[in-house]
Formats: sequence, C-alpha cells, structure tokens
Amino acid sequence: MPKTAIVDIDNTLWQFCDAFYEELAKINRSFPTPDNWTNWDIWEGYCSKEDFYGAVNAVHSRQDSDNYLPYSESKDFLLSLKEQGYHIIIASHRSPDYRVQTENWLNRHGLVFNELHLSFNKTRIINLSTDVVVDDAPEVLEKAVEYGAKATGLLFPWNREYLNNGFKLYDSLKEILNHILYS
Ligand SMILES: [Mg+2]
Repeated sequence: MPKTAIVDIDNTLWQFCDAFYEELAKINRSFPTPDNWTNWDIWEGYCSKEDFYGAVNAVHSRQDSDNYLPYSESKDFLLSLKEQGYHIIIASHRSPDYRVQTENWLNRHGLVFNELHLSFNKTRIINLSTDVVVDDAPEVLEKAVEYGAKATGLLFPWNREYLNNGFKLYDSLKEILNHILYS
C-alpha cells in the first residue's frame, strides 16, 4: 500500500495570509497585519464575522488569479513526495464550490496530487493509515499526532505557541521535506 500524505494549501503551498489580509484591509484599513495573527479570533473588533468569511471566500473564489502564486518550493516539494511513493491528498479548508478554481491553480503551477479534498472539516480524512500531514493549523496537526502520523508544517504566529505538541514546524518546505524523508 502506498504511503499517504495529506497536504494543506493555504499557508502551506502559498502565502494565503497576505492575500487574505489584502481583502480584510479593504473592509477595515486598520486591520492588524498577519504578523500579529496569533489566533483565529483576530477579526473581532475589526469586522463582522460575515465580512471575515466573505474575505476568505473572495480569495478562494479567485484562487486561479494571476496574482496568487505558490511558494517557489511548492512544486518540487510535491514532486519529491510523489517520487518517494506518497499518495498525495491535497486537503484545504474551503468551500467545495471553489473546486474548479482550486484544481486550475494546482494544475497550472504543476502542483501534483492524487486527490483533492475541499471541506470545512478536513480532520475527518485523517486516519490510522495516514503517514504524513503537512498543515499550518494546530488542530489539524494535533489530530494527525493522535493518529500516529508524522505531523509538520510551516511556522507562523498562529501556531508558534504549539511548537512542542508532538509536531515539527519549520521556516521552509525544504526543511519540512527533510523532516518527512529523513527523520
Ligand atoms: Mg492552512
């Protein structure tokens, strides 16, 4: 049976937070910048919950836009996993309504995968046969650890305080790949 890797999109394969911030700043110019996002309730006091999720959807509905580029390491990261025999499930917390835009974006940038999972509860696809989970969200990584998977992701202000919870956070996909393949 092939090894399975579940790989996130936002803040894993591209800098979603910057595109998201641009949308939030259109709603309220004094919205804090991403380096201050230490929790997910950051919108409180700056915009309504509807505006906040509207901004998420505004980005995801335009995923295939020319302005939204993956990290320079993303393509090789996924290719390396594929070469190492991983079955790659790209899993993003987003509306399945944006499947076409998401698929177009992945294909256009040569981001290889075997399956694409879009939902508001991706942790349900993590199970005992999951080998690797790459994500920036602590709750996803915690679930991965619970199921015995190797859990890792990029380091951000919103996951920094979870550093020692059984998963490893790094500054680059290259370091993440090294951790997956050699540690
Ligand atoms: Mg993410």
